[in-house]
Amino acid sequence: MKALNRKDLFGDLAGFSLKPTRSEVFGNRKEFKSAALIGLVFLAFSFAYSLIAFIHYEPAVHVHEYAPSKIALEILGHFTLGLVPSLLLFDLNLSLLCASTAVLIDSDHILAAADFNVSGRPDHSFLFAAFSAIVILLAAERFHLPDKAFVKSAFVGPITLFSHISFDIFAATNSGASSFPLMVPFSFSGFYLPPYYWLLFEFIAAGFSICGFLLSRRFGRTVQKQEEPSSIDQRVKISK
Ligand SMILES: [Zn+2]
Repeated sequence: MKALNRKDLFGDLAGFSLKPTRSEVFGNRKEFKSAALIGLVFLAFSFAYSLIAFIHYEPAVHVHEYAPSKIALEILGHFTLGLVPSLLLFDLNLSLLCASTAVLIDSDHILAAADFNVSGRPDHSFLFAAFSAIVILLAAERFHLPDKAFVKSAFVGPITLFSHISFDIFAATNSGASSFPLMVPFSFSGFYLPPYYWLLFEFIAAGFSICGFLLSRRFGRTVQKQEEPSSIDQRVKISK
């Protein structure tokens, strides 16, 4: 992606349409496949990132939210609360990706579930959201997401974290286990989040989606414009 100049950043605000096109919203089979591959990259990264828990000893606490009786409800809950705010990205493939990553982020429970004396939720942290955003962007470029989807994909990490914690808070309302190590790896202590925060976090996730959508109007078009091959480039390609 080329650097954007000042005119690209601030020029002709009235020149772009807020209305998403049909192909942008529904994508195609290739984009669906790319989104699925990005989901797998996210899964690998979220487990790899959870290894950071080894720098801090903590007696293993088994989170029973994945007991067989609750697993379906847990997955459905995370999937739904991941899907709903991400619909504002106006890209169905990315919304399905957000819904999936909102489930997959819980791969950070694996170490504690395997009886290692480490934190069971190191990915439930702000720094994880920032790093996962970078990883997803790199994967989006690698798997050739279209320009607008590429811009929106930068927000999948934050949407995932906030919508995931939203359901964790919602589901913990009865058990009171509403504490999250938001500052890992700087601090492994949990921050208590009151029950009504589930709605706040869901709104924040929706806010990230709106940001992603609006920025895609601005930069998605610009990037596309810059990367559109000139007729000479096309002729070179064809002659190859
Ligand atoms: Zn969780």
